[in-house]
Amino acid sequence: MKNLLENIEEILLMGPGPSCVPPQVYKALSQKTLGHLDPYFLMIMDELMEMLRRIMNTKNKLTIPISGTGSAGMEACFVNLVEPGDKVLIITNGVFGMRMQDVAGRLGAKVDALEFTWGTPAVPEAIEKKLRQDSYKIVAVVHAETSTGVKNPVAEIGALLKGSDAIYLVDTVTSLGGIEVMMDAWNIDALYSGTQKCLSCPPGLAPLSFSEKAMAKLNGRKTKVPNWYLDISLIANYWGKNRVYHHTAPVNMIYGLYEALYVIFEEKLENVFKRHMESYRALVDGLKNMGLKMLVEEPYRLPMLNAVSVPDGVDEKAVRQRLRSEFKIEIGAGLGPLAGKIWRVGLMGHTARRENVERFLAALKKVIGK
Ligand SMILES: *Cc1c(COP(=O)(O)O)cnc(C)c1O
Repeated sequence: MKNLLENIEEILLMGPGPSCVPPQVYKALSQKTLGHLDPYFLMIMDELMEMLRRIMNTKNKLTIPISGTGSAGMEACFVNLVEPGDKVLIITNGVFGMRMQDVAGRLGAKVDALEFTWGTPAVPEAIEKKLRQDSYKIVAVVHAETSTGVKNPVAEIGALLKGSDAIYLVDTVTSLGGIEVMMDAWNIDALYSGTQKCLSCPPGLAPLSFSEKAMAKLNGRKTKVPNWYLDISLIANYWGKNRVYHHTAPVNMIYGLYEALYVIFEEKLENVFKRHMESYRALVDGLKNMGLKMLVEEPYRLPMLNAVSVPDGVDEKAVRQRLRSEFKIEIGAGLGPLAGKIWRVGLMGHTARRENVERFLAALKKVIGK
C-alpha cells in the first residue's frame, strides 16, 4: 500500500486557518512523548500556562489549553457557565456569533441575539441600549469574526459591562497572537482561542481562561456541568496543584503550543503585531492596484483575515481551485450570505510575511488576468 503521507505538498496556507506552521513547531511536535503526569511534563505545563497568561494579558489562575479545537473552547465556555434558563445575549455579525447562539441554545439558555449586518462591526450604543432594557447572565461576542473579516469593539463592550453581574465571554480564536488581546483590562471573564490561526500551531488545542467571577459562577452552579469531558471544575484539578488525572493530556500538542508561544515571544509580541499590519497593508495595496475591493470598511478590518469582494463575472471557486493546483496557495471562500461574494485571504501568524503576500498577489494576477 502506498503511504499517502509521503506525498503531502507544501501549500501556502492563506485561508481562514490553519495557518503556516514554523519549523520549530513541527520539531516540537515530534519530540519524545512523556507521561502526562511525568514531573518534567508538569514543568512544561506550568510554563505553558504562564505563556498563555502573558499572551492574553491576564492574571487568571485558570488559564489552560482545552483538548480540542477552537470550537471545544467555545463549547467549554458555554457548557460550564450556562445554567438552564439563563438569559444570554449574543452579539452577532457572522458565522461564529451564530454558532454561539446554537451552542448556548442547546444548553437551555434563553438566547437573545443582537444582530448587526455581516461585514460591519457591532455598535456599542446599540448594545448599551439593549443592556438597559434587559439584564443578562452572560454577554458574548466574537473579537475577530473570521467569516467576514470584521473586528468587534471588545474593549468598549467590556467597559459597558463594568460593575454589572453579567459574565463577559469573548471568542479570540482568530485575534489571539495577531492583534492585542487584554483580557483583564477589558473586563473579560471567559475567553477562548484556538491554536491554528495566529498562534501558528496545527489545530488541536483551545487556550481558555476564566476570571474569578467566571469561576464563582461555575462553582455556584445548582446543576452539574452537563458535559463530563469539558467540565472545567474537573480539568482544573489536573492543571492545578493536585494533578488529578481527568483525561490524558494531548502531550505532543502541548509541546507544539508551548513552542508556538515560545517562538512568538522570542520575536516579541509587538513585532508580531507589526508584521501582521505590514503584511495586511501590502496585501490591500496590491489588491487595490488590481482594482479589487475589500468588503469591510478600513477602521474595522482585521489584519489577519481579509474579505475581498469577488469582481463581477469572475468564477470565485475556479480562482481558488487554480490557486491551489497551479500555485500551491490556499485561500478561503465566503460563508452563509457571503458565499460566492468574497474570498477570505488569511495572513495569520507565520503566514503573515511580505514574501507570501507578494507570491499570492502575483498568482492572483495571473489567474484573474489583471
Ligand atoms: C476558527 C474559529 C472557530 C472554531 O475553531 P475550530 O478550531 O475550527 O474549532 C471559532 N471562532 C472563530 C472566530 C474562528 O475563527
